[in-house]
Amino acid sequence: EQDVTEYRKSLAIRTSGFDVPRPVKAFEDCGFSTALMNAIAKQGYEKPTPIQCQALPIVLSGRDVIGIAKTGSGKTAAFVLPMIVHIMDQPELQKEEGPIGVICAPTRELAHQIYLEAKKFAKPYGIQVAAVYGGMSKLDQFKELKAGCEIVIATPGRLIDLLKMKALTMLRATYLVLDEADRMFDLGFEPQVRSIVGQIRPDRQTLLFSATMPYKVERLAREILTDPVRVAVGEVGM
Ligand code: ADP
Ligand code: MG
Repeated sequence: EQDVTEYRKSLAIRTSGFDVPRPVKAFEDCGFSTALMNAIAKQGYEKPTPIQCQALPIVLSGRDVIGIAKTGSGKTAAFVLPMIVHIMDQPELQKEEGPIGVICAPTRELAHQIYLEAKKFAKPYGIQVAAVYGGMSKLDQFKELKAGCEIVIATPGRLIDLLKMKALTMLRATYLVLDEADRMFDLGFEPQVRSIVGQIRPDRQTLLFSATMPYKVERLAREILTDPVRVAVGEVGM
């Protein structure tokens, strides 16, 4: 236990919540399959970043997480890698039933970046990833979703439009990520985010990541997450 405390301190990790899993030191400690380890190596990721060291074991244990770490700290892989594991753990993949993993991001640029990262790890498994955001043909996105996918990465407004059009259902969605939550608030997406969350089954796993954690964001997190573990790395702005 003393070791864990010292190790967290050395990585500037602070946690709160009950029964917090211990941080890992290496990707080898995560129980990833060979295919995933190969994909990680292919990215040139030698060891997990501090947010990954602590968030990976918590997310892999099925817990909800509030993750706070500055831009560029590797938050994407902290939710994408466990999402692949979560999807592969599903008993049967039936594409008609809609995505299993749903990721909301505030802008199309961010959604596209997450898409590229998710594709790299999804590819070895044949997991289909769709990205839907404004500024692109809604009809094309409608068709893409209708064709089936296990992961959808979306900006909130476009995802709501496509849900209204019945391009997808959330029946199978059990892994929800709200990325850059602070920016989603800044851009006024709180009502859209709440609407999306309300359409996803309550027994989902929910993860909220942000570079800063203003009170409004923390309050939303506490409302929509269940017994979350909070992980903050380094100096965290409000
Ligand atoms: P954030 O979402 O926290 O701003 P990103 O997930 O976009 O950060 O990651 C920032 C950069 O770090 C990306 O180029 C990503 O490929 C890289 N990266 C992520 N994890 C690792 C790792 N474990 N080792 C090396 N580079 C990494
Ligand atoms: Mg990010």
